[in-house]
Amino acid sequence: MPPASSEDETLTRKVAVVGAGMGGLAAAVRLNQQGHDVTVFEARPDAGGLASSFHLQGLRFDYGPYILLDEPGLTWAFHQLDVELDLVPIEAVYEVLFDDGRAIRFYKDRERTASEMDRTWPGSGEQYLKLVSRLERIYRDTQPLQFVSRPGLARLIRVGAARHVGFFLRGLESVLARSGLPRKIRDAIMIWTHIAGQPTTKAPSPLALVAALIHGAGAYYPRNGMGSLAASLKAAARQRGVRFRYDTRVQHLRHDNGRMKVELAEGQSEFDAVVSNAHGVGTYLSLVSRIAPQVASQLQRLPLQPPGYCEYLRVKGEPSSTYLRFRLTGGNDCRLFVDPRHLESNPRADAWYPARLVGNSERAHGDDWWKESLDAVEVLERRTPPDWGREFHLYRDSMNPVMTARFMRQGRLAHKSPFVPGLYLAGSSTHPGQWVSFCAISGILAADQLHEDRF
Ligand SMILES: Cc1cc2nc3c(=O)[nH]c(=O)nc-3n(C[C@H](O)[C@H](O)[C@H](O)COP(=O)(O)OP(=O)(O)OC[C@H]3O[C@@H](n4cnc5c(N)ncnc54)[C@H](O)[C@@H]3O)c2cc1C
Repeated sequence: MPPASSEDETLTRKVAVVGAGMGGLAAAVRLNQQGHDVTVFEARPDAGGLASSFHLQGLRFDYGPYILLDEPGLTWAFHQLDVELDLVPIEAVYEVLFDDGRAIRFYKDRERTASEMDRTWPGSGEQYLKLVSRLERIYRDTQPLQFVSRPGLARLIRVGAARHVGFFLRGLESVLARSGLPRKIRDAIMIWTHIAGQPTTKAPSPLALVAALIHGAGAYYPRNGMGSLAASLKAAARQRGVRFRYDTRVQHLRHDNGRMKVELAEGQSEFDAVVSNAHGVGTYLSLVSRIAPQVASQLQRLPLQPPGYCEYLRVKGEPSSTYLRFRLTGGNDCRLFVDPRHLESNPRADAWYPARLVGNSERAHGDDWWKESLDAVEVLERRTPPDWGREFHLYRDSMNPVMTARFMRQGRLAHKSPFVPGLYLAGSSTHPGQWVSFCAISGILAADQLHEDRF
């Protein structure tokens, strides 16, 4: 779909975007393409939000994201915004180590993945391949829905997704239990839920589609680091004339006389509409005034996704055999060692490289299974949930609502606010998970809604 052009007969509107994360940046570029006059207010000194990079001792680190599991979604979004994307495919994607010493590895190559599984659990390889084929069919039929804001039943029927309603109504555990695969393989498929610290019994079934994505489109990493995605969007926005105001925290949003008032420390400005890329729940509960008490109490009940614990390291030694190494212990405690050396074509054993340890609890830092192949390691920085909250202006030190099966069925938070006229949401609260691709798509869908609305 080509981007809407400024030749449209629609009015040029004065729009404020609150937050320059992936969602806010995508919304800003899209709104500008549509001919609107856009100002982005960002509380931090630069754009990118959680998907930014930073430097320590001459090494580049990503703050949050480490892998792109939805290349088709990200490619769609960047294509819509007319921005180049340069991604490196990952062949040996991840391994999961268990307490009993067993390990499961996932490669882009499904046959290799299945044959390794088969060696430990005879017969499981074929079951795995069958599961992946089934998930691929579901993914193919439902993928178009990803690019639609709150698709209804009619749309589900039109794209052929209605036949998978059963899949969507069941949770992740139930969908995988039907595969007949051993528990450990199922846990390894659900590793994204474990590392997020979410109970797998509450997780939505679409998370199983990651297996189809890894063996289909593949898993990727941006050639110039995660921060390069936001940097490209920011450059496109600036080139097109979007205004950015950094170190500027929006304190309040007020709808008054058909206009949106954006309150800053130094005074207020008026806009026709606002796209908030700040926390979805936080936008309603701390930025907007006069939300109905029953809506507020519903929002307060949504469980929120903590950003977890991170240690930013510099390491020397042999690179890991897979890019990501998870360790899952009996109590569902999950830790992850991210090894970017794995993506280097010729890593030097005597040079320092950036790496990261991620966990769903502070215990992530307690043991050293991940140090096996390292000759040297130094912890350069740590980030706990309150640190993330302070640095990234996160509501209650959390990302957005946890994507439970129930919340997904309810339809998540809407791009167009049903509660505040002139308010739109962009970011992970409006999409089925906390992925950078979803946030970019969300920004486009929020902008498109705004553009189509007459107010
Ligand atoms: C540890 C970790 C690992 C992750 N791993 C992955 C991964 O591997 N793959 C993946 O795809 N995703 C991953 N994610 C998720 C991904 O990073 C996020 O979902 C995505 O970056 C969020 O983008 P967003 O558009 O919702 O906005 P955010 O990144 O939350 O940005 C919002 C921006 O709004 C600004 N802001 C907030 N309030 C105000 C205000 N009042 N006024 C002005 N500005 C304001 C903030 O400063 C921030 O810059 C990870 C996240 C973390 C923390």
